Amino acid sequence: MIDGKVAQVLTDTPSSSTCTICGATPRQMNDLTKVSERPENENAYQYGLSTLHAWIRCMEMILHISYNLSFQTWSATSEEKQRLKQEKKVQVQKRFREELGLNIDKPRQGTGNSNDGNTARRFFYNAACTAEITGVDIDLIKRLYIILQALSSGVMIDSKKFGIYALETARLFVNKYNWYYMPSSVYKILIHGESVINHFAVLPIGQLSEDAQESRNKDYKKFRLHHARKCSRTATNEDVFHTLLYTSDPYITSIRKPYAKIVKELDEETLNLLNVNELISDPEAP
Ligand SMILES: [Zn+2]
Repeated sequence: MIDGKVAQVLTDTPSSSTCTICGATPRQMNDLTKVSERPENENAYQYGLSTLHAWIRCMEMILHISYNLSFQTWSATSEEKQRLKQEKKVQVQKRFREELGLNIDKPRQGTGNSNDGNTARRFFYNAACTAEITGVDIDLIKRLYIILQALSSGVMIDSKKFGIYALETARLFVNKYNWYYMPSSVYKILIHGESVINHFAVLPIGQLSEDAQESRNKDYKKFRLHHARKCSRTATNEDVFHTLLYTSDPYITSIRKPYAKIVKELDEETLNLLNVNELISDPEAP
């Protein structure tokens, strides 16, 4: 599975806010009847749903709805709206810090911001608290949590049930927050999730997540600092590549002591979306 940005380039999608599968633009996404008639580019299924980034994108969507909730428009155009948005943001950040110990939407030294996969997981895990702080509908938050859990569970998903549940969630969203255009990554899961899951029918979609690539980011920094010549950029990159290659070699990996897997408890509702038979027959499933 690859990052949404890479999928955008590979499918020649003009903008990151456009759907890579059906080409819907943000303004079209909330019109669920029209959207269901759009032809799908089946070639784009292979790029998956980016299940790890989905957590972060869903969290950011809830946060942005929350910031704009008092004036209910997608962008804060006037100065007054800008002020309201900033005030709400500060208040939401403060409460998340105090009540859940989460740093939200804070710039981080180096690259990006403090919104990572772990923050997003805890954001959704504490759905009641999150709903209270953000003022966003608790059902929507809970449903997104169930969907994200199912996607990253690493267990086969019942795609039909998933499709129905996702569409109901999209309807709930449009009902409550029609003024906010659904982000393309969230839209892709809710509208095209079923088709993408079917495309990857051989393996559970959660086992194809981009976690594996993302966890190499840390290795990359470590290898560059401690295991690479610094005399030229070419030499640095060559050494980093060699280290990345031998540490991911299937044979080397197979003789390494396996890490203890953390078995996560899944919600009852999530289990409903999964093929539970497989769970029972395979106690080793993550
Ligand atoms: Zn689409």
